[in-house]
Amino acid sequence: MIDLMLEPEEVAPPLLRWYAGHGRDLPWRGLRDVYAVWVSEIILQQTRVETGQRYFGPFLQRFPTVQSLAAAEEGEVLALWSGLGFYRRARSLHRAARVVVQEHGGQVPTDPEALGSLPGIGRYTVGAVLSSALNAKLPILDGNVIRVLSRLFLVEGAPDRAAVQRRLWALAEAVLPDDRPGDFNQALMDLGASLCSPTSPSCDRCPLADGCGALAEGRVDDLPEPTKKAKVRFEERVALLVARDDGRFLLQQRPPSGLLASLWELPSVEAEGEVAVLAAGELSAELGGGAPRACGTVEHRFSHRHWTVRVFRSRGDGRGAGRWVTAGDLADLGVPTASRKAIDAGLAEPGT
Ligand code: SF4
Repeated sequence: MIDLMLEPEEVAPPLLRWYAGHGRDLPWRGLRDVYAVWVSEIILQQTRVETGQRYFGPFLQRFPTVQSLAAAEEGEVLALWSGLGFYRRARSLHRAARVVVQEHGGQVPTDPEALGSLPGIGRYTVGAVLSSALNAKLPILDGNVIRVLSRLFLVEGAPDRAAVQRRLWALAEAVLPDDRPGDFNQALMDLGASLCSPTSPSCDRCPLADGCGALAEGRVDDLPEPTKKAKVRFEERVALLVARDDGRFLLQQRPPSGLLASLWELPSVEAEGEVAVLAAGELSAELGGGAPRACGTVEHRFSHRHWTVRVFRSRGDGRGAGRWVTAGDLADLGVPTASRKAIDAGLAEPGT
């Protein structure tokens, strides 16, 4: 039965035929501007395509060239990134744009090694950007491609193991055709994002079904092998919305390194259970606020962390250090989704 498995070079023709009729229509497809495709790839890392599409247009509109991005303040870049999460990506993209301007004369390098040496750009991004924008024959390997290749070629072992990674990269290279490698990479990702889904893939409609090892062996649900999940850390926090009589409330900037570095949030502390009320009172007093009132609890899940935030509101005299803002100012600041939820809960309460 397994003799029917496809040879790597046999994958491209049926997949490209399928792609012609079923490929996704995405705003960055067909772009030849290496900078724009690079931006799209960074936005899409750890982000759903639907969400990425909402951010791509406004980001390019504000920063249409690598020069405009390099010239921006980091705070402005983070403000545009607000809600996308994984803010390190935005910081690296910004830093890399500056390197491009300072060291590459403002031209995004198209040499794989030079592009791969920029901050935040790994082998996957190099392949995705250069194959998509310039049709370069370079492989890609993301979650979707890993799934398709693991099933097609019966790749055993968890994909985060170094030996398995090497095998997968070798396969990703071996299946690449000389003709239209850029479209082929996109097609492979689209197949993984649609028919070859993690659960209940639609093998009956798959253009590669005739030569798929996992389908032939009845192992579609076993491959790829699951990777070990990192433990999630649970944290309980208190966030305080201190509002002045003119309606402005206090935001503080997080430290320049670590989780959500340099982003803006309500004054917050870690506090568990019953201590929360006490902590909110102390925090409010420190910031020149009165007795706080509870406004509810919000939850936020990061990749390896879960926050349960009890939100309080108090009336302040304007002494607290930070930035006193209106709700309308939030669009111009880097405010992550976790903070946004707490602010919304605090603002939903009528004045204190
Ligand atoms: S036949 Fe099924 S498991 Fe194999 S590549 Fe196609 S969708 Fe994936």
